[in-house]
Amino acid sequence: MLSPNDHVAVAVSGGKDSLSLLMILKKLTLRFPRTKITAVTVDEGIESYREEAVQLASDYCQRLEVEHEVVSFKEIFGSDLDGYLKDKKDRLTACSYCGVFRRKAINIAAKRVGANKIATAHNLDDMLQTYLLNLLEGDVERFVRFSPILQDPRGQFLTRMKPLCEIPEKEVALYGYTDELRFQSASCPYMGEALRNELRSIFNRLELAHPGVLFSAYRAMLRLRKLAEPGIAPANLNACSRCGEPSVSSMCEACRMTGESILQANPLPIIQ
Ligand SMILES: [Zn+2]
Repeated sequence: MLSPNDHVAVAVSGGKDSLSLLMILKKLTLRFPRTKITAVTVDEGIESYREEAVQLASDYCQRLEVEHEVVSFKEIFGSDLDGYLKDKKDRLTACSYCGVFRRKAINIAAKRVGANKIATAHNLDDMLQTYLLNLLEGDVERFVRFSPILQDPRGQFLTRMKPLCEIPEKEVALYGYTDELRFQSASCPYMGEALRNELRSIFNRLELAHPGVLFSAYRAMLRLRKLAEPGIAPANLNACSRCGEPSVSSMCEACRMTGESILQANPLPIIQ
């Protein structure tokens, strides 16, 4: 996933996974002086939840001596998540909106700091849940396109990688505790996706009764993905006609979602 000349933008939310990832990558860069990491935090604007996490992320970056870039939904899209969802009747969709906007915000921030790769802190549990969610929703294309590392063969868009993809959530937490990491323990008030939460508790129970099932199921998903790949057309990444960010269709999901609503696409000047 990593090369000696990389400048990696590490997506840091302030939770245990992303702070642990930052610590691990920081330790690695000490051995590779040409490598650089910059922490990137997205402030979605979730009242009495996000402020604490941004502060924790910022404190930790200071302690590790890592540069820290904070971008907000308000700054990029013209409204924070709370404000955007106020006009939406279906609160359950908060995660789908937030996921799309956050992804775009991280891309923008990573380009702004001049990174060539983006690292996110998906752990083994997250990976397996996502593979199964895609299957349960019948989305085979998405199942195949979800990968520990996503590289644009034409090199136009930043590489996205998930270095903790094989580490169970419990081990990431344990690792965080060994460094007396202060992380945000409160859950997001938007509660997460219902189906994902159910899968999480099913897998927790299964792993407890049958240690190792997480690993074997994840390995099977990777093999299935490889086997199915030739049958699925590769995602043809284009630049969004509105904002220029990578997209599988002519307009990116964030721009389609924002449309003419209160969240006006307001791309920041990109330095690169
Ligand atoms: Zn766009």
